[in-house]
Amino acid sequence: MKTLILGGTREARVLADIASGEQGFDIVSSLAGRVRDPLMPVGAVRVGGFGGVDGLREWLVANEIDTVVDATHPFAGIISANAAAAAAALRLPLVHLRRPGWSAQTGDQWIRVPDLAAAAKTVADLGDRVFLTIGRQGVGAFAGLTRPWFLIRAIDPPEGALPPHHELLLARGPFAVDDESRLLADRRIDVLVTKDSGGDQTEAKLTAARSAGLPVVMVGRPPLPEAAVVMENVAQVWDWLQESAAQ
Ligand code: NAP
Repeated sequence: MKTLILGGTREARVLADIASGEQGFDIVSSLAGRVRDPLMPVGAVRVGGFGGVDGLREWLVANEIDTVVDATHPFAGIISANAAAAAAALRLPLVHLRRPGWSAQTGDQWIRVPDLAAAAKTVADLGDRVFLTIGRQGVGAFAGLTRPWFLIRAIDPPEGALPPHHELLLARGPFAVDDESRLLADRRIDVLVTKDSGGDQTEAKLTAARSAGLPVVMVGRPPLPEAAVVMENVAQVWDWLQESAAQ
């Protein structure tokens, strides 16, 4: 059974690692090609966009794909929608692997907002020193905020307009709670902005913010396509793939 894993996440790499070694499974992972030095999955990998729904559909046919796993990041909404449309047109089985979002705990001061534009409006009232941990994309939503100072953390430098007062910190998780606490204190952070990515790789900042009594602006996820089949972890998807192969 030939499976396309749409990746760019740790879960996608773990799934490729498990399935690539198994008899009867032919796995191809796909990366968008955004990160300069990506962590590569085991096995066959293709890199770069497909060219929208039509391009993806043609690629699925040309490569004789039987099943598709959308294991992209919870905020990669376009490719998830494209995968749903292309798989539906070809009647291919598709699952979306989505780790659960984060849950607030006692002591958390989270302000949930629907998108980055709302986050930019909200953060202006919460402090003068903002820790922006939303990745490289979307920083432009904060470019019009001329008063606050931003600590912008991303793997690669953001492109396009940036807020005028900022420091750029290039780093890739996972991060430790002690290091995050030190960073919040050193930079005298007033408020943290994050996407609700979920998972344990970048959760330490939330623990650190809770300990420091700082507010967190939590940006909500884009919706998945209607009627999407969603699984929360790699084990569930691997079971599903094995069942599909047995049919
Ligand atoms: P997006 O907005 O949903 O997708 C934009 C375009 O990028 C898609 O239309 C597609 O181009 C291409 N693309 C995205 N993921 C792809 C993949 N796995 N393989 C081939 N092409 C892909 O996605 P994004 O938010 O830019 O994220 C890009 C990649 O980074 C994803 O693979 C995602 O898993 C990873 N990532 C994203 C975030 C985040 O916060 N958004 C965080 C960590 C990792 P075509 O239309 O030309 O096919």
